[in-house]
Order: sequence, then structure tokens, then C-alpha cells
Amino acid sequence: MFFKTNFSYSNSNKSYSNLLLELDSGNVQSIYFYPSKREIDVLYKNGKKEKVPILYNDQLIIEKASQNNVELTINNSRKESSAANSFASFGLFLIFVIAIVLILRSTSKLASRALGFGKNKSKFITIDDVDTRFDDVAGVPEAAEELKEVIQFLKEPKKFTDLGAKAPKGVLLIGPPGTGKTLLAKAIAGESGVPFLSIAASEFVELFVGVGASRVRDLFVKAKEKSPCIIFIDEIDSIGRQRGSGIGGGNDEREQTLNQLLTELDGFTDNSGIIVIAATNRPDILDSALLRPGRFDRKIEVTLPDLDGRKKILSVHSLSKPLSQNVDLAYWATRTVGFSGADLANLMNESAIHCAREESKLISDIHIENALDKVTLGLRTSIISSPNMKKIIAYNEVGRAIVSAVRNGINSVDKITILPRTGYLGGYTKINPDEDIVSSGLISKKILLSKIEIALAGRAAETIVFGKNEVTQCSINDISYATSIVREMVTKYGFSIIGPISLENNSQILIGDGLLRKESIIADNTYSKIDNEIINISKIALNNAIDIISKNRILLEKLVEILIIKETIQNNIFEKITSDLLKV
Ligand code: ADP
Ligand code: MG
Repeated sequence: MFFKTNFSYSNSNKSYSNLLLELDSGNVQSIYFYPSKREIDVLYKNGKKEKVPILYNDQLIIEKASQNNVELTINNSRKESSAANSFASFGLFLIFVIAIVLILRSTSKLASRALGFGKNKSKFITIDDVDTRFDDVAGVPEAAEELKEVIQFLKEPKKFTDLGAKAPKGVLLIGPPGTGKTLLAKAIAGESGVPFLSIAASEFVELFVGVGASRVRDLFVKAKEKSPCIIFIDEIDSIGRQRGSGIGGGNDEREQTLNQLLTELDGFTDNSGIIVIAATNRPDILDSALLRPGRFDRKIEVTLPDLDGRKKILSVHSLSKPLSQNVDLAYWATRTVGFSGADLANLMNESAIHCAREESKLISDIHIENALDKVTLGLRTSIISSPNMKKIIAYNEVGRAIVSAVRNGINSVDKITILPRTGYLGGYTKINPDEDIVSSGLISKKILLSKIEIALAGRAAETIVFGKNEVTQCSINDISYATSIVREMVTKYGFSIIGPISLENNSQILIGDGLLRKESIIADNTYSKIDNEIINISKIALNNAIDIISKNRILLEKLVEILIIKETIQNNIFEKITSDLLKV
């Protein structure tokens, strides 16, 4: 490539002896040698060019050529290869340089993202123009009231300080997901005339140790500039977890961030005009230092809404929707025990979607009913075509409904359906949760036993109707649900003959020898007792369910007959048929 001879070769007279003759006769003009090749290029005086094979290190040709004054040229082919080599290494070098540049650029981006946070103040989302108001947050009157007081404090601190009252430093909103904690914070932002600095706690935690801490510092520096103001930290459990927890003794970055937060909370004095509001749904895992007086000393519980609350939330979320006059939201509140605000908002949204899909102008009960089915039961899948399967599923569902009616009252059954939904094998019996249990969170042994009986009622009905050996695995999900409740009763709540002993989580994680071992501190003997108890309780529950359904065989057959034809039995029909026939 770099070296080019001017030869165009002819193939004649390639013999060595011929070349010697030609040399002697003085017909050769010049000879080109290639040291690494056993070949030479010959240029004759008549212009002919030729390649001739020679011996390695051929002295004879050189001698003859010099005797006859033939021009000798030696081509350094190494030059050629070294040139190629140097080109290749230049290429490699170039690739190397490009790679280094790319790596440097990406790390510097990362580093500037992490380290240059202080400069990048726009990270803080300042919610100034939210249009959320306290009126939008329904069903949590206590929480809203307390927060209004906090805002009052920021607006007119003098009114309070004159009376010797101290401003709260930190307010912790505690409640299950979807109950409106973030919504409340937005309402504060919307209502308060003060700046509102909001950040999700997970944004504090970055790849590098110390970044989170510096973000916390920056947040408070900015807050002090803007005081009086509110800082809102959402999902604080992601940094506020108990320190030293987790495998390996905790997470350095998270702990440093938390330490910084604690320091900052202590750092600003009372009445400095900064109030920190945080939200979490896991108060149990929060570090106790966060909760001590002087930090998040006010805790506001945002609970699941009660009947009245649900009605209000439903009406908040129907305001912008065309609701038919016949729809009674109070009724729908009774049908949605245990729903959170987010669930209710979703329900109304789904209703509007159903309405739109049917091209109706107004949302009616039918649309809400369909939406409720979709929200609680999942999407409808294709209809069961096999009559035999329909029959088996119908017995399963009606069996459950009857046991629930006997144990919890007839109105505990919301609806029975054999229309299959995704996630369920076959049908579904919707049982209303008890309002008291949902709001108090307390559950008795009796209630748990009835839950197990209801769960096993499908199997019970099949056993009665088809016989012991003809039962199907139709109730597979219910059996595993029943077993999980029984296990909790025995190992967690002390509801068995083993007694009030917590047998759960009784394994210790030992870190030693570089190995992670779990060592149980439950005796083998106790293990077999646990197993025996679980088996006993489950068997008794199944037998109870069998007794209840056997007593109500006529009702069972009647309901199954209707269910197979109609595919769904609503609670008013269920009540009508059951109230006459049910034998408790
Ligand atoms: P959380 O932060 O407690 O998990 P969110 O505040 O994010 O719950 O609630 C999600 C959505 O659910 C809200 O945007 C709102 O539409 C609805 N929602 C929740 N609680 C309420 C409530 N009490 N009143 C009205 N709407 C609510
Ligand atoms: Mg939230």
C-alpha cells in the first residue's frame, strides 16, 4: 500500500538460468530485491518486466548483476509492515482515547449530578400553584382540622406565641396507602399562603454516601431563606427506617441522610417559622429518634374512611361527573367497606369509563355496579361453556354464601357470581367486610374461625353433593387462604391449645463465618405441635362447614339452580330466598 513498484508483469521466461544468461548478455536494466521474499523483480532493457524465483540469500545473482553493472535495488518490506503496524496501533490508540473520553464524560455527568446538587436547586419542587383545597379531601375531618391549625400558626404566629404556645416542629401523617396523605399535603400547599417545599424521601438517597445528607442540608438552608414555610417529605420511611437494621447492619447512605435530618430538625429553633410535615404508611419501621418530642412530635392518623367519609369522598369524586339523579351515594358507601380514598376515586373513574363505553349520558347504578365488580373482582374473562364446570363452581360459591349467611348474617353476602374473572378460578362470592373490624382492626377468634369455615365451604359443598372422591381442586385458592389464617391463629395470635406464645419470626439471623445462617429457637417438638394444631383446626372447620351446608341442602339446590341460569345473584335476591329457608 505504501510501496508500489512500477511493474506490470509478464509471465514468460521465468527461469533462473535464463535470467543468468540475460544478465551476462547485458539485457537487464535493473533488479529489485525483497529481503523477506525468495523472488526478485527484473526489468529488461527492452522494457519487459518479470518476477523470477531465486534462492534464499542468493549471492550469485548479486554477483552477476554487479559484474554487469545492473542497477540493484533492495526494497525494505519491513517498512511496509511496520507502517501497517503503526497504522493499526494508531487506530487502537484512537479507540482508546475515544473510550476514555466517553467514560470520563459519563462519570463526570454522574458526579455532577450527585455532587453538584447544591447548585441544582431546581430539584426541589416548590408547589406554589396547586389548586387542591381542604374541601377536596373528604372523610378525614380530624386530620384536616389539625393541619388547618398548623397553617394558622404559620400565617399568624403571633397569635399563638403571645399565649406561650410553641409551634409544632414536625407533623407526621400516618395512614394506609391511598387514604389521602399526599392529597392533604397538596391541600396545605394550596391553602397556605406560605412557600411549600416538597420532596419525596427517596430522592435523598443516591449512589454516593453523603449525597443524601447534603441534600437534606440544602433543603433546610433553602427553607430558612424562605421562612415561614412548610417542608413536606413524602414516604419518609424510605430514609427514616430504624438505623442498624437490615442485613450487614444497615445502609451507610441512608443512615447518614437520616442523621442529617435529625440534626437539622434539632437545628432550627422553635418558632423559626419552618414546619416539617412528613407522610408514611409504615410508622412501625421508623427510627425511634425521629418520633421523639422535639422532632415529629405531632402524629396525625389518616385512617380508612368510615361510612360517612366514604359517602363524602364519593361525592367529591362525582362532582365533575354527570351522575344520574337515581344514584344514591350513601348506598354505594355501604357497598364499599374497607375502601380507601384512592379506591373510591378509582371506582368513580371506572364508572365514568363504563358509562362512556356504553355511550350513555349519565352515570347510573349499573355503571357503578360494573365498575365495582371490575375494581374488586378483576376483569371478566370468557364465559364458562361447560355445563358441568358451571355446576361445580355454582355449588362452591353457594356453599360459601350459605356458611357466611349462617355465621355472619344474611346481609353479609354482597353477591354471588359464576362469571369468571381474571385471577379467580371460576366464580366469586363477595362477602361484605365487617365495618367494625375494618375500622378497629381488631378481630376475634370466632371471626377468624368463621372465615376459615367460609373459605372451606366450597370444598364442603362439593363433598356433600358429589362425594368424598369426586371433589375437584376448584377451591385451591380458598384452601391456601384458610391455611394461612389457621397458621396465623396458631403461631401469631395464640388462638390454639399451644397457648399465647408467639411462634412467628422466631428465627435469628446470624452473621458469622461470612455465612448467613438462620437459626430457629423453636423446639422440634413444638413444630410438630404447630402442625397438629393447624391440621386439627382446619379439619374441624371443614366439618362445621359440611354440617351447616347439609342442614341447608334444599336452599343450596335452589340457589344453585338460580345461579346456573342467571349467573349472578345480587344480595337483595339472596336475602329474599334465604330468609325463609336458612336453617341456622
Ligand atoms: P396516600 O398519599 O395516602 O397514599 P394519596 O393522597 O396519594 O394517598 O391519594 C391518592 C388519590 O386518592 C388522591 O389523588 C385522591 O384522588 C384520592 N383520595 C385519597 N384520599 C382521599 C380523600 N380523603 N378525599 C378525596 N380523595 C381522596
Ligand atoms: Mg402518598
